[in-house]
Amino acid sequence: ERVVTSGADDLERAAEAALRPRALADFVGQATVRDQLSLVLHAALGRGVPPDHVLLSGPPGLGKTTLAMIIAGELGTSFRVTSGPAIQHAGDLAAVLSSLEEGEVLFIDEIHRLARPAEELLYVAMEDFRVDVVVGKGPGASAIPLTLPPFTVVGATTRAGLLPAPLRDRFGFTGHLDFYAAGELERVLVRSAGLLGVRLDADAAAEIASRSRGTPRIANRLLRRVRDWAQVRGDGGLDLRAARAALEVYEVDALGLDRLDRGVLEALCTRFGGGPVGLSTLAVSVGEEPDTVETVAEPYLVREGLMGRTPRGRVATPAAWTHLGLTPPQPDGL
Ligand code: ATP
Repeated sequence: ERVVTSGADDLERAAEAALRPRALADFVGQATVRDQLSLVLHAALGRGVPPDHVLLSGPPGLGKTTLAMIIAGELGTSFRVTSGPAIQHAGDLAAVLSSLEEGEVLFIDEIHRLARPAEELLYVAMEDFRVDVVVGKGPGASAIPLTLPPFTVVGATTRAGLLPAPLRDRFGFTGHLDFYAAGELERVLVRSAGLLGVRLDADAAAEIASRSRGTPRIANRLLRRVRDWAQVRGDGGLDLRAARAALEVYEVDALGLDRLDRGVLEALCTRFGGGPVGLSTLAVSVGEEPDTVETVAEPYLVREGLMGRTPRGRVATPAAWTHLGLTPPQPDGL
């Protein structure tokens, strides 16, 4: 498992739970979304009705689940969780919906992965607070409408573009979460260190933040690795030396690249003269599947301006050569 991946498994989610902010005021960064959401929630509270359905979009690890829990917390209501892939049949969703109590928040993670029949059932439930329960089979089957109490769906998606327009239109508010600035990640880290009860020096926080790929989940994970190092090999305090040493052990470099990212860039520069080279050739040269290179390493390399995608293949940018300490080839004719 990569230390800089933005996804998380169940074990990690359990470790994360302790670090989750519970109120909107404790949620660091994302000022625009926070402000918009605060208006939506306070207006609904003032009117004494559940707020409009909320869609949160953005890459993994930026706080969509956290915000959804905060919404329920701020509304003083309970929080129910499901996800697109967990709902195999429309009936599964109907069961969840018909068990909702008035004002509850239903969080649907990866909502873009709902199957079509479930999606259609959800439109109706979101708009009219109704599910049609099908009784019987074949030509004799009939649909009995079941009225639901008003509730709020909070949908999360990493791919807002994949949501069909009718579903997207059912959300009264869409908040887009963006990568965090280094200063914001430092605040996340200081808050987390406080909760973990460890001393974190300001320069160590800055060092960890700058290698966290704009993602609070990665920042918190690196913090736990630095804490391990400080406990086993240091004096327990998280200073700059501990941060640098731990991140070296986990092979996370100054830009937050790990071994796979750097392997891809190195192959691109040293074996293929900076490209262009096809994805499968590049993948073979680092001993990985093309899919891994494309989905795991590439997005961040492209976002950081280290790699480009052209119709003829992948290319290294001048910044990639500089980052690896290599000299880019001179353009022909110079
Ligand atoms: P996924 O889509 O992979 O579930 P997510 O966007 O829902 O990711 P969360 O699970 O909400 O991400 O957040 C991951 C971790 O980062 C949690 O431990 C959470 O506490 C922390 N975190 C996220 N955003 C913030 C924030 N703005 N302030 C403080 N901590 C944050």
